[in-house]
Amino acid sequence: MRTYCPKCKTHTEFSVSIYKPGKRAGAKKGERRQARRKKGYGGQKFPEQHNQAKVTKKQSLMLKCKECSYTLQRKGMRLKKLEVV
Ligand SMILES: [Zn+2]
Repeated sequence: MRTYCPKCKTHTEFSVSIYKPGKRAGAKKGERRQARRKKGYGGQKFPEQHNQAKVTKKQSLMLKCKECSYTLQRKGMRLKKLEVV
């Protein structure tokens, strides 16, 4: 895919992949805080969502510049299925 690269300041060739969230790091500050809040009686901090309204997931693309390997993320769009050809 050919688009603008802010680092090269010109249009360059980009490789496209689907965004996937990374692994949760269990020892990170936010994870430790969440574990502390959830401890004990009535520990759930936020209400759990039960009835989902959406039937699709927002999916975004990761673009990587082939010249400077600068990575940028395209805005998410609601799709049932996303495939990179
Ligand atoms: Zn670039």
